[in-house]
Amino acid sequence: MVDLKQLASKYKTPLYLYDFTHMQAQYEQLKQAFSARKSLIAYAVKANSNLSVINHFAKMGSGADCVSIGEVKRALKAGVSKYKIIFSGVGKADEELEEALKEDILMINLESEAEMHRLEAIAQKMGKKARISIRVNPNIDPQTHPYISTGLHENKFGVEIDVAKKMYIHANASDHLDPVGIHFHIGSQLTELAPIKEAAGLVADLVRSLKAAVGVEIKFFDIGGGLGVIYKDETPIDPAKYAQVILDALEGQDLTIVCEPGRFLTANAGYFLTRVLYEKQNGSKRFVIVDGAMNDLLRPSLYNAYHKIETVEVEGEKTPANVVGPVCESGDFFGKEVELPPLEHNDLIVVRSTGAYGFTMASNYNTRVKPAEVALENGKDRLIRKRETFEELIADEEEFLQNV
Ligand SMILES: *Cc1c(COP(=O)(O)O)cnc(C)c1O
Repeated sequence: MVDLKQLASKYKTPLYLYDFTHMQAQYEQLKQAFSARKSLIAYAVKANSNLSVINHFAKMGSGADCVSIGEVKRALKAGVSKYKIIFSGVGKADEELEEALKEDILMINLESEAEMHRLEAIAQKMGKKARISIRVNPNIDPQTHPYISTGLHENKFGVEIDVAKKMYIHANASDHLDPVGIHFHIGSQLTELAPIKEAAGLVADLVRSLKAAVGVEIKFFDIGGGLGVIYKDETPIDPAKYAQVILDALEGQDLTIVCEPGRFLTANAGYFLTRVLYEKQNGSKRFVIVDGAMNDLLRPSLYNAYHKIETVEVEGEKTPANVVGPVCESGDFFGKEVELPPLEHNDLIVVRSTGAYGFTMASNYNTRVKPAEVALENGKDRLIRKRETFEELIADEEEFLQNV
């Protein structure tokens, strides 16, 4: 597809590469699946919040699902229309709510009664009426990794259906709240349709009863994100079937469907390119030590997530090896028992499916600078974030340094 060797020498390693064409194909496939209805795809910015990535989706007409005011500002900066921005998240600070109201975004997604009262007070003080949605926790097991399950009562997200009802009644009567949406998001990397169907059914029933019993007219039916992708050998949900399940649940109701995918749009567009530093053998264990590390790509360490690992133009008999980074943690690895040929200093390794929750989870642990990011589009490569420098990394501390 592209000359990885050439890109590695041009931009150095470790490096993130994003196939913008793949992102566009994913977006269009999903948009198409919902074409029978009014729909808004609000890209979940936390998956990959590079401004050029957000801008890429904005140009296709995408909105943005944000979980901090920082992400809201990124989305605005990247050209997302304010009326396509949703602000979600289980804990929003007063300043964040205030700023979201000032920016007049599409809606603020509330996750507790307490948060509703805070927002109401803030809107009142500002003389505004806040458009809101309420995140319902339908208590459904999404059948995914427990760390990325969000739709069970034991998870911190959303409110129970009865609480949601109470909140809608309150909001509907308030001069400073306008309940325009309803929301659920039961987990991430979903590969089973049944839990989504069940959740959509429950929440759609709630919409019906809110309208019939209390006269609340909901306009946006926000089904969250969570569509799974192939990392290894998963069978992902077919977007057309996904859409059909939602359309069935909404039978007879005139609502705009909002979908907030992150991983689905970007995961398999991403390639993390890293160079082999050394090989070594500890007893019977073979280690391949590379220049990328958990600070650049955390998913294997955090979730024990699987990522396909491949070499670039290296031949030879394959034997199992652990691919590890230089960070001083035993949890610093990209893959275990990976079948790899003998490797030498400077050989290239690609970690696949790293376009979502890759760079956005990067840190400076071990005083390592964050990697560069490059977009691949129409056969061309384009830098979209330059590699951080040591000077930038220490800039916020340096001025406070005493007695140099
Ligand atoms: C994280 C998140 C998403 C995106 O999840 P993906 O699994 O990346 O699709 C969407 N909506 C909300 C509220 C989220 O927290």
